[in-house]
Amino acid sequence: MRGNVWIIRGLLILPQLAALIIVVIIGQTKPQDNLDVTSMPAIPNNITSPIIPPQKITNTIPNNQINKVEFVASYQPKYEVSRAHPNNYGQRYSQDVNGRPVNNQPIIVIHETVNSATSAINNFQTPHTNENAQVSYHTLIKLDGTVIYIVPREFRAFGAGNSVFRGENGIETVKTHLQFPPSVNNFAYHVAFETPPDGRNNSKSHSGYTQVQYNSLAWLIAQSSVSEARITTHKAVDRSGKRIDPRNFDFRNFLIVLRSYRR
Ligand SMILES: [Zn+2]
Repeated sequence: MRGNVWIIRGLLILPQLAALIIVVIIGQTKPQDNLDVTSMPAIPNNITSPIIPPQKITNTIPNNQINKVEFVASYQPKYEVSRAHPNNYGQRYSQDVNGRPVNNQPIIVIHETVNSATSAINNFQTPHTNENAQVSYHTLIKLDGTVIYIVPREFRAFGAGNSVFRGENGIETVKTHLQFPPSVNNFAYHVAFETPPDGRNNSKSHSGYTQVQYNSLAWLIAQSSVSEARITTHKAVDRSGKRIDPRNFDFRNFLIVLRSYRR
C-alpha cells in the first residue's frame, strides 16, 4: 500500500519535472544579445566567500582618505534578493524598434528612491498593467548599506524614460517601444540609493547618503568592468527635464572608494 502511494506520487511529479526541463531548454535557446552583460554586477552565489579580496591602497588617493580606504577594502555588504514582478522589466533587445541592430556597451546609472526602500520594492513587485507605471532598478542600496538585488543584469530594468548617454562615442540611446521616447535602458544597469527620511519630498537637496551606502555602491560596481567614464546619474542621462536624482550624490567620494576596490 505504502509502495503504491510512492509510485503514484512519482507519476504525479514526472510531468512537472518534464515541463521544468522544457522551460530550461527553451530559456537556453533564446538568441544571445550582443550586449556584454557579464561586464555588469552579478548576484553573488555565496556572500560568505570573499568576492573582492582586500587590496592595497594606491598612491592616487589623498592621505586624509587612507584610513577610510583601508576599512573599505575589507568591507562586504549584506545582501538580499527581492525580485521585481516580470511586468516591471523586459528583455534587452539586439535591435531597436525599427529593426536596426544595436551594439552599445553597458553603462551604470545611479539613482535615488525618493521614497523608502520598502515602498520602492513594493512598487516593483506590483504587477502594473499600465505601461507608464512599470518601473524597476537592477539593484537598490538601503541606508544601512544592504544591497537589494531586484532585476538580474541580463534583463532591461525600466529605470529611465526619455534619456541619452553622452559618451566618447557621442550620443547613445535606443528606441525599443513605438509609444515611448528612446532611452538608455537597453544597455543600462540601474542602481539606486535609498533616500534619507529628510529627502522624501521634491526639494532640490537633502542631508545626503550614508558612507556605508557609498561603500556598498563601490563594492557592487567594483565587480563590473564598466569604466568610470560610463558610470553616470539619472540626472545626467535624463532628457525630460524632470529627473534630478540622485540629489546630493558625491561623485568624488564614490570614486575614491571605487578606486580602493579596483586599483
Ligand atoms: Zn532615477
